[in-house]
Amino acid sequence: MTPIEVLEKDKFLKKKEDLRQEMEDIEFKYEQLMDNMLVRVQEINPRITAISDMWDCSESPIGVCAYDEDDDPARDNCVFCHDPEERK
Ligand SMILES: [Zn+2]
Repeated sequence: MTPIEVLEKDKFLKKKEDLRQEMEDIEFKYEQLMDNMLVRVQEINPRITAISDMWDCSESPIGVCAYDEDDDPARDNCVFCHDPEERK
């Protein structure tokens, strides 16, 4: 490699590491947010075991669909709007 290529390589590696770190931070904060939302909705309905990260829900107090996986393991019936998690 030429000296310029070495510099460029190092720049890319640095950038990749920065982005990996940023991605990790985002994933951590996202998990925290989802955990907080689950706890909040469980205060309203303790039967809820899961919330959807795919569907907004106008009838849900947390704004996303929520499921009771003991009664509904396939997540076919949102506790609030009764829509399934899997939709076409
Ligand atoms: Zn819903």
